[in-house]
Amino acid sequence: MFKLNMNNFFASGACAIFAIFLLAGQSARAQEVVVYSARIEQLIKPMFDAFTKETGIKVKYTTDNEGALLARLEAEGKNTPADMLITADAGNLWAAARAGLLKPVQSDVLEKNIPAHLQDPQNEWFGLSIRARTIIYNTNKVKPGELSTYEDLADPKWNKRLCLRTSKKVYNQSLVAMMIAEHGEAETEKIVKGWVANLATDPLSDDTRALEFVAAGKCDVTIVNTYYYGRLMQKDPKLPLAVFWPNQSQGGVHVNISGAGITRYGKHPQAAIQLLEFLSSDKAQNLFADVNMEYPANPNIKVDAFVASWGDFKQNPMNLAKAGELQTAAVKLMDRAGYR
Ligand code: FE
Repeated sequence: MFKLNMNNFFASGACAIFAIFLLAGQSARAQEVVVYSARIEQLIKPMFDAFTKETGIKVKYTTDNEGALLARLEAEGKNTPADMLITADAGNLWAAARAGLLKPVQSDVLEKNIPAHLQDPQNEWFGLSIRARTIIYNTNKVKPGELSTYEDLADPKWNKRLCLRTSKKVYNQSLVAMMIAEHGEAETEKIVKGWVANLATDPLSDDTRALEFVAAGKCDVTIVNTYYYGRLMQKDPKLPLAVFWPNQSQGGVHVNISGAGITRYGKHPQAAIQLLEFLSSDKAQNLFADVNMEYPANPNIKVDAFVASWGDFKQNPMNLAKAGELQTAAVKLMDRAGYR
């Protein structure tokens, strides 16, 4: 009796229409990915447009600062609409993973495209572009031969010659965290105290301001991400500034990443993985790095010509998960050392 009724039901036109609605609903859901991004719109939209063009999958995105996005993901919990989180540094991705907001992705494509030190050992996040934090000097006041390492900027010979961005910025927290991983806390604290003793001015609000101070001769040398240098030099190529790649016979240049992870509770996990793999592909890697004068995470991709003109460098191959693990220790250490 029941079976007969069900057969009637399945044979009915009403059922066919119902099934079509179901399928349409599913495919509409499958045809989009929702991204929370701490990378600003102009640095993500070109890649999303390319992805949509290739796959037909739409990308909806919200941009905000990293703290706000993490808080939002946490508050939304299982109800979050977000499938992917993009940040501009490894420490925040590590924190998101640690808070249980991301989930591991097993992908041969990502393993092939992204070097091991630029991805989470548990595969909860992946670097997509490299941001090199290097030394920039005033070419009228410093000969490159005087420079060697980040650590050497603690030497008294740099007294009143150093400018630094505030320790409140995650970029410097990651740098110091990676130094702790390399040298231990006691040695790193000595170095940071040496930096503070050498400061020509109070710590500055941002990397661009630090570069402007060096260009104006208020200090001789600073530590910044290279894309800030690139932006400034494009505006005014005559500025007396140049890149120095430190630690080339030691651990290498400190790098950070812009990267992404798949959220634990997103509603379109397959499409999100597809987008992440696309962002690691040849096609997207050039775009992803070039729009902000960064370096592609995928080492097989050629660097933008202007960026390449700053020269090749050896990057520190230590896994960036350390920047997250040791971030709290780094913040405390900088506080003890009087680095504001
Ligand atoms: Fe930045």
